[in-house]
Formats: sequence, C-alpha cells, structure tokens
Amino acid sequence: MSLETEIQKRRTFGIISHPDAGKTTLTEKLLLFGGAIQEAGAVKSNKIKKGATSDFMEIERQRGISVATSVLAFNYKEHKINILDTPGHKDFAEDTFRTLTAVDSVIVVIDVAKGVEEQTEKLVEVCRMRNIPMIVFINKLDREGKDAFDLLDEVEQKLGLHVTPLSFPIGMGYDFKGIYNIWEKNINLFSGDSRKNIEETISFSDINSPELEQLISEQSAATLRNDLELVYEVYPAFDRAAYLSGAQQPVFFGSALNNFGVRELLDCFVEIAPSPLPKASEERLVQPNEKAFTGFVFKIHANMDPNHRDRLAFVKIVSGSFERNKPYLHTRLGKKLKFSSPNAFFAEKKEVVDISYAGDIVGLHDTGNFKIGDTLTEGEVLHFRGIPSFSPEHFRYINNADPLKSKQLEKGIDQLMDEGVAQLFTLDFNGRKVIGTVGALQYEVIQYRLEHEYGAKCSYENFPIYKACWVEAPENPKDPDYLDFLRVKQKFLARDKQGQLVFLADSAFSIEMVKQKYPQLKLHFTSEFL
Ligand code: GDP
Repeated sequence: MSLETEIQKRRTFGIISHPDAGKTTLTEKLLLFGGAIQEAGAVKSNKIKKGATSDFMEIERQRGISVATSVLAFNYKEHKINILDTPGHKDFAEDTFRTLTAVDSVIVVIDVAKGVEEQTEKLVEVCRMRNIPMIVFINKLDREGKDAFDLLDEVEQKLGLHVTPLSFPIGMGYDFKGIYNIWEKNINLFSGDSRKNIEETISFSDINSPELEQLISEQSAATLRNDLELVYEVYPAFDRAAYLSGAQQPVFFGSALNNFGVRELLDCFVEIAPSPLPKASEERLVQPNEKAFTGFVFKIHANMDPNHRDRLAFVKIVSGSFERNKPYLHTRLGKKLKFSSPNAFFAEKKEVVDISYAGDIVGLHDTGNFKIGDTLTEGEVLHFRGIPSFSPEHFRYINNADPLKSKQLEKGIDQLMDEGVAQLFTLDFNGRKVIGTVGALQYEVIQYRLEHEYGAKCSYENFPIYKACWVEAPENPKDPDYLDFLRVKQKFLARDKQGQLVFLADSAFSIEMVKQKYPQLKLHFTSEFL
C-alpha cells in the first residue's frame, strides 16, 4: 500500500471529558466495534479512585493502567484508528494537554444530566486555542437530563463552540425512544438490549411520512418533527471545512453504556475526521505525506519495574514512515539513534513492529536520551513546536532528606522532570530548587518514585507562590527598567529547566504592580512565547 493510502486511512484522536462523563465506557464500545476486544469490561478505567489520593498503591495501579491504555489502536471500515488516552483527573491535566499536541481531532464527552463541567471547560479551551476539530458526544440519554436545546446552548456558551447537531434524541430518560440521525437520515430505536441497539436502524429520509407514528407514538412523532424543524432553523448545516478548521462542532447524542448512538458517532467520525495533519516546526511546516520520517516525543513513561530504569518514549509520527533498526537523528542531541524494538499499539497490547506510518504512535525504549518535545528526523534539523508549559498551581521547595544520596536525588528529579511529572525552577539568588505542579497529588508521586526508583529521599517546604510568569528579555538587555525589575524582584526570580527566566509572583497583586511599574516588561503565562 502506498504511503499516501496508509496516511489517508489513519484517524488519531483523543477523547476528553470531565471524570465520570463516560470516556472509558465510550472507548470500550468503540473498541468493540473494531473487534479489538471481545467483551465489555476489558478497558480499565485509569481513574484515581475517589478518596484514594494518598494511597501509593493506587498511584502505581493508575500508572500501570496508563501504560496499557496510552494508545488504543484498532481497524474499522478500512480505517486505522488510534485513540490516545487522556487522564481525566485534574492533577494530571498537564499530561492531557501534552497528549493533545499529538492528536488530529478530539471527541468531547458530556454527561446529559451534568452538562458542561469544569474539566471539560479547561480541556476544550486548549483544543479551541489550537483549532483542533472537535465532535461532541452527549452521553447517558437513558437517564433524565437537561433539555437537548438547553444543553446545546450551554455547550455554545460555556465552551465557546459553534455546534450543529447531527443526531437528535427522541425523548430522554424513562421516556427515551431513540435517536434520529440527521447525518444518515435514519432512526434508531432504543431498546435496553445493547446488541439490538447496534443493528436496528430504520431508514427515514422523509420525517413527515406517517410511518413515523407507527414507529414511535403520535406525541413523540409530533415532538420530533417540531424539534427537527427548530434544529434546521437555528443551526447551520454541517460544513466539513468549518469542522476541520475548528469553526464548527457537530454534536451526537447517545448512551455509551447501552451502546446506543455509538456506531453512528463512529461511522460519521471516520468519514469526516481528519487524517494526520501537517505540523509546524521552528524551521518549516511538515506535511504528513513527505517521504522522510519525522516525529516528536509527547509523552514519556517510566517503566514499572524499578530495577530497570528504562522508559518508554511515545513518539507521534508526523511524516513518512518509521522503520525498525534505521538510524534517526535526535535533533536536540545532534546524534543518530537506532531502535531495535519499537512498540506499536494494538487495542490494549503493544507489539514490536517493523514499520509505522504518519499518524501512528510508536513507543521507543529509552535510557535517558529523551525529553518531552524532542524531535526525530532522517537527518534534517527540525524542531517541532507546540508543547508549552503552563504555570503550575502549587509550589514547594524540595529538600534532600538523605545527604548521602544527593546524586541519586539530582538524577531522579532530572528524569522525573523530563517525563513531565512536574516543573522544576531553580532560584537565581540561592540555587534552591522549587517544584511546581498542577495538583497536590504529584508531590506524593514524586516523593514515592524518588524513593522507590532512585533510592533518594526528599522533603518539601511550602513556598506560597501564586503563579509562574515567563519573562521575555527586552531587546536591550541593559534596559534600565529591566535591570531595576531584576534587582527588586531578585528573590522571586528563577530559571526553568530550559534556562528561561521566570518570575515567581506571590500574588495577583504583585503581578499587577510589576505590570504598572514596568509597562514595557513582557510577562507570559506559558513558556511558549518566542
Ligand atoms: P469516565 O470517568 O469519563 O471514564 O467515565 P466512565 O466511563 O467510567 O463512566 C462513569 C460512570 O457512568 C460509570 O458508572 C458508567 O457505567 C456510567 N455510564 C457511562 N455511560 C453511561 C450511559 O450511557 N448511561 C448511564 N446510565 N450510565 C453510564
């Protein structure tokens, strides 16, 4: 098969949602369609169980599952589908942000009763900033929930999206009759039996046909006709170009648990969702169908076996094909590396493969060469962009609790930061190290892993910082205002891992003061501003 055909058939995407909206259930049903798994219950939830946040076994369990479910690949109708796992827990949000740099589109799952929730808002915002094509799936229609039109309004307002429904529910909860599929122009009647739910669709191109009354009650038929009239009046017709550019988001309704509305979602998804997209590097835009291989590391996972400190680096292939045992250039280190056992992912298994194509993810065994964001090529010097760090929410000093193990501690911190577990800042004036995280849970993960994987002990000390702001140096480094800022804020200046200057502000007020006093100074809330 030609490279072009291989690339065209690929669909690499992520499912995002607030915890409990049904991401795991939907993923599992999608895998069932691909024949990748035989029964329900095979996909494990990577959720941190409620109330278990300080239980180290729970963290380890979660890490184990997260390796297994990092990429779930399957074939469906001539397409190769790669689902990239995104942790729903807010303490791991940064992991999800990074994964979003490797997807070509996303499906957003929303609970019909709860509507738009906090975590959905944050994740969708990141997708919107990057114009990632999104399809919305409103789940749990078998339960009583919000009115469909109210929900569509809520999605538009809270998430800033421009939706167009491609299916519409007939009733809801106890009274849930089924779904009219606007995209395929047919009706799917709901029955409690999830097997039947997949098969029984009735073609229905003319919604005014009296046959509708024979399928659903007179009252339901009248409501559906009214609803659809309103849908056609209020919402624009589906426009694929608008969807692909992030300007319009189609919406499907269904019930993942009952396998209802999932086939419709998947069939439409494979048809409209983008095949691998071009990606910007600092040097140029790279097209997926270029012959030469390029790719970048978006996730690093430490091995579960503490005796082998090797790690798995997840590489998204941007162009061409990746071959086993072929030397590739690691552009940051400027050296060629060969990989004898690259892993490809299939359902919940990983296997060594000889060749993978643009859009696919390969897992490379690594002994410390990779950092998140690293680029691999066949020789051209390229640096893919687009994995910014955001300001952490929590900051603590990290202290060495075992003076005999300071080397181990350094190495451990270094490697954990490369994995993207948290961010490290080193204070300019005294060299103390500060760890910044999105959630408090990471501090426990770090402490536990330092001890179990590196034999080092650490303790923390609170550092009441409000936000990290990246400081853009002025054109003239001797600018008197800039020098004054550096002197006055000396104790709050630090370097991030890339050596960029960061101002650790202790309050929103102090950021405002700095802005007023030094209007020319450029402060940024993500590390990606150059
Ligand atoms: P995640 O946290 O987003 O991965 O959510 P899960 O897939 O684990 O689902 C959370 C809970 O909602 C589980 O108890 C599911 O059984 C339930 N659930 C998922 N989909 C549906 C649905 O369509 N209807 C109903 N009633 N429950 C559902």
